[in-house]
Amino acid sequence: MPDPSGEKPDPSVEKPDRQACETRLRKVQAEVDAAAQVAGRSPEEVTLLAISKTKPAALIQIFLDLGVRHFGENRVQEAAEKWPALRVGKQVDLHLVGPLQTNKVRQAIDVFDVIQTLDREKLARVLAKHKDADGFPKLYIQVNSGAEPQKSGVLVQDFPEFYALCIELGLTIDGLMSIPPLDEAAGPHFELLAELAAQYGLPNVSMGMSNDFPTAIALGATHVRVGTALFGQRDTP
Ligand SMILES: *Cc1c(COP(=O)(O)O)cnc(C)c1O
Repeated sequence: MPDPSGEKPDPSVEKPDRQACETRLRKVQAEVDAAAQVAGRSPEEVTLLAISKTKPAALIQIFLDLGVRHFGENRVQEAAEKWPALRVGKQVDLHLVGPLQTNKVRQAIDVFDVIQTLDREKLARVLAKHKDADGFPKLYIQVNSGAEPQKSGVLVQDFPEFYALCIELGLTIDGLMSIPPLDEAAGPHFELLAELAAQYGLPNVSMGMSNDFPTAIALGATHVRVGTALFGQRDTP
C-alpha cells in the first residue's frame, strides 16, 4: 500500500515479516497436529497458545490476520495496553501465564479470559471477592512440580489443601499449569501434572513451550504455550 504521506519508511523500525510469521505458524501447527496424531489424540484436543509477551501489536496483528485466536501474555499491564484494541471484533481467547499481584486482580479480570497462574492463598481470596464480575476468567492452578524456590506455583504436596481452599472460596478450577525445571527432563513433570489434573477431574492441562511442546502433547497437554517458535527470539527475558 502506498504511504499517503509520501514519507519514506524509517529503516530503523523493523517491519514484521509476514511470510516468516506464516511459515513459523504452519510449522508449529503441523508439529502440534503430528504430536497429537502420534499420541492417538485428536489435534482439536490441543490448543496452541501463542505467547506474545514483549512483542509489539503490529507483529501480533499478523498472527491475528493468519487466524490465530488463542494468545498468552505474562504481564497484566502490558496486556492491558496491547489487547483491548487488538481484539476488537474478534473472538480472542487471552491467557495470563505470568505471576499475578493481588493489586492487579481487577485489571486482570477485565483483560484476560483465563488466568493460568493461581498459585497462593492470598490470590485465591482476592479472586473470590471479585467472583461475580461479568466474564469472570477461567482459573488454572499453577503447580511448582519441581519444587523450585524461585518459581511460582503450589507445591505438589500442598495441592490437595490448596484445591480444597479454592473450592471452599467458591472458585471453579478449570485446569492446571506448570513450568518444569530447565535443567531436568520435562517428561516426568508433564506426566505428574496430567495425572494430577485427571485425579481432580480438571479438563485443561497447560504445559509445554517452544522446546518441548511435542512431549507435552504426548503426555496429555490440552494447551501448549509457544512464544519463540512463533514470534522469534525475544530481546528482553
Ligand atoms: C514466555 C513463556 C512461554 C513461551 O516460552 P517460549 O520458550 O518462548 O516458547 C511459555 N510459558 C510461560 C509461562 C512463559 O512465560
